[in-house]
Amino acid sequence: AAACPIAMAAPLARRSRQARIAWGGRVVTVGGDAPVRVQSMTNTDTVDVIGTAIQVKELAQAGSEFVRITVNTPEAAAAVPYIREQLDRMGESVPLVGDFHYNGHRLLTEFPDCAKALSKYRINPGNVGKGDKRDKQFGQMIEAAVRWDKAVRIGVNWGSLDQELLAELMDANSRRAQPWDARQVMYEALITSAIESARRAEEMGLNGDQIILSCKVSGVQDLIAVYRELSSRCDYALHLGLTEAGMGTKGIVASSTALSILLQEGIGDTIRVSLTPQPGEARTQEVVVASEILQSLGLRAFVPSVTACPGCGRTTSTTFQELAKQIDDYLRAQMPVWRLRYPGVEKLKVAVMGCIVNGPGESKHADIGISLPGTGEAPAAPVFIDGEKAMTLRGDNIAREFQDIVDGYIAR
Ligand code: SF4
Repeated sequence: AAACPIAMAAPLARRSRQARIAWGGRVVTVGGDAPVRVQSMTNTDTVDVIGTAIQVKELAQAGSEFVRITVNTPEAAAAVPYIREQLDRMGESVPLVGDFHYNGHRLLTEFPDCAKALSKYRINPGNVGKGDKRDKQFGQMIEAAVRWDKAVRIGVNWGSLDQELLAELMDANSRRAQPWDARQVMYEALITSAIESARRAEEMGLNGDQIILSCKVSGVQDLIAVYRELSSRCDYALHLGLTEAGMGTKGIVASSTALSILLQEGIGDTIRVSLTPQPGEARTQEVVVASEILQSLGLRAFVPSVTACPGCGRTTSTTFQELAKQIDDYLRAQMPVWRLRYPGVEKLKVAVMGCIVNGPGESKHADIGISLPGTGEAPAAPVFIDGEKAMTLRGDNIAREFQDIVDGYIAR
């Protein structure tokens, strides 16, 4: 018999070099066979040591595996070792990344305690200086990375692209028989800036394994085009993200779309979802979204997933939405303890469904599922465990009883 031609889709593998981002005894690997890492960035004033340390801890607890902080002034550079100290005192060993622009060469040279307290430096080749100074200033930052054994992200951004390089490439383009359009020249400038800077860093003595590249743009199709080409031209680990993705739904959808396409093609070793927080929204939202992208693609699992139907005219009450939310909140809240106590619990699948149409079927696909009664159905909620109907719940305490069943399953 012919083999079934339909194979389950799976992300392709791209083998990149592996960087090590370390603090104390904790080492976060990026690239190679490491899982795709989640990272984020604070929006506090780095001079505010306590405020920044608290936000770093919140981001780390939400799942950020390293956290970037702005290092833009001598005062900020002076604050960095104290932020590190505060975090260590809180028992939080998440590695810190320093974000440097314009004056990074001076700050990393004049504040060695800052250079030591950071685990990775982000250098923007578009902002390291112009003309003769450019190589010298870039070299000073690479020298610090070599001296203190730190990883470096060479982070190019289309909002701060190396203008000298762009002008050179535009000039060369004008002499082509068939000139590229301006956007293609910009893509080339982003990629060339990243790769040439990485090669220069290696010539200056930085181990190429410790280099991570990024070329960030804010358009989905631009990002896909740039990263496909970038990944084909080098084997450095790649940091992936839309820069300035935007607010709310727009930012989430744009980031998810761009990152998912590239991750499915095996492109990207670490991701950040750069969301503009809406008033009152927690900074940790971007970490939750990044984690959900990886979990949805089956690349990683962080928390048990709850499948719930959208509801329709067959569900006139909000009972099943409330139960779905209650179970989701409960599972997430238990994870700090469960992760240690029950290895693999993050792969659990729970279904909370609104009626008999898809309820039993979807519940059987989950580890544990419940199908609540829709309009006109008998007031009974069958529960399915490992694909088999295990019991039927009735009465006013269905939510509580179902949560107890989930607890019991996990403990077993
Ligand atoms: Fe509607 Fe039932 Fe489908 Fe849920 S499972 S969307 S309630 S038909």
